[in-house]
Amino acid sequence: MNIKFPVVSLVLLILPGIVSADWFEDFKAEATKEQLHQFLYEMPKGGDLHQHLSGSGFAEWWFDLALSAKADGYLYYTKVKLNNCREHGWQGFKTTPYHLMFQTIVQNTWQALPECERDEYLPFSELSDKQKNAWMNSIRLDKPHEGREEFFETHWQRLGDLTANPYLRGDLIQRNFQAFADEGLIYVEPQVSAFGYRMPDGTPIPPEDVAAILRERLAKPDVKATGLTYRFQQAILRFLPNAEQALEQAYRFVSENEPYVAVNMVGREDHDKGHPLRFLSTLRKLRHEYNNVRLSIHAGEVDEPNYHVRDTLLLGADRIGHGLNLITDADTMRLMRHGPYMVEINLISNLLLEYYTDYSQHPFPEYLRIGIPVALSTDDRGMWDSTMTDEFYVAVTEFNLSWAEVKQLSENSLRYAFVDESVRDEMLETFQKRISKFERNASNTGAAGFSTQSAPRRSFICRRYDICRP
Ligand SMILES: [Zn+2]
Repeated sequence: MNIKFPVVSLVLLILPGIVSADWFEDFKAEATKEQLHQFLYEMPKGGDLHQHLSGSGFAEWWFDLALSAKADGYLYYTKVKLNNCREHGWQGFKTTPYHLMFQTIVQNTWQALPECERDEYLPFSELSDKQKNAWMNSIRLDKPHEGREEFFETHWQRLGDLTANPYLRGDLIQRNFQAFADEGLIYVEPQVSAFGYRMPDGTPIPPEDVAAILRERLAKPDVKATGLTYRFQQAILRFLPNAEQALEQAYRFVSENEPYVAVNMVGREDHDKGHPLRFLSTLRKLRHEYNNVRLSIHAGEVDEPNYHVRDTLLLGADRIGHGLNLITDADTMRLMRHGPYMVEINLISNLLLEYYTDYSQHPFPEYLRIGIPVALSTDDRGMWDSTMTDEFYVAVTEFNLSWAEVKQLSENSLRYAFVDESVRDEMLETFQKRISKFERNASNTGAAGFSTQSAPRRSFICRRYDICRP
């Protein structure tokens, strides 16, 4: 067989496509900040393994969806003034204080209020432009004085009854999927609670029915068209008195309801009632019965040094959410180098929730460069008013990432996804194909190839990096 021809042709074909090892260093040196941001937007990405669905909705989406929920029988009201009907007190969603403005309730809740309080609310359809903007701003963490307290104690409470509508939740999933697909993601694994939903008249909806409503929404063409692969997590609030019982319910639910695959534990870790070892005996009991539930758990998202990451690995978690104070635990750091456990990194979240005043203190580059598996994720990007592209922008510019490191982050976000091996391999192959093509094009065109302005420029990237809407 004459093999000369194919060998020579192959060499000739490959040569023009060879990508110089340091093309990305040249790219970074040459690109404007807008070009780099656009490049990162167009860049194919892997998955987002850490995102809370309610926190992932942008304010304008929530507003639109609240209005259109009328079609499903849900009419929403929001608090626009205070008549001082009460001196203090709690009402509505969990622990919502009376004085909190812009808390949102469904008509049925509104009707049950005394007249003095009913007068404090307006239906969404009657809000003025000023009130509409104020409502949207009230669920964005975008002011210098806003931080951890504002986020944990007012944002979720303001959303109130909006988070108890399963149809609205389905539409929110669709919008999220579309936005992530536009950013070039292949996979998402949102935390989507199936508990605590109600019909417009207040009748509770069982979690199995919620899952069925969501599956129906996921089967619609506009979700399928995004092409995303997805799995869901069910989270529990870890510091509540009945958290063990909630964990058992979540386990059973995840075990029996697709597309749920994993349980997570959330809630501020500076509230010590939710410490990891509290759940060890419950999880050991659950593992006697269930064989198909994965664990990704928030741990180390706290200022003080402690052993929460180590203890959370003992709970059986394969992935750690945040893992910020892992840096203070030398033994666990050594254990995790080149290890089977991944840390889900949320750079924008950590800054806005004041775990760091600037990125020079963040442990991410230390984890990345000593071989602790890490991937970038968005946590509550709706409330940060940011994107996955922005997470990459922060990582590349604050920590001078190499091209190999950028690709590694996306690969990790697929390699550690809670999916079967065959699905994982297929996603990794898709990513390799897409990123190789992108790399060839980008190294040819250089920064000049990224001068269009199609990347969303939300308020975080504008405020912090001065990359603003044209
Ligand atoms: Zn989180």
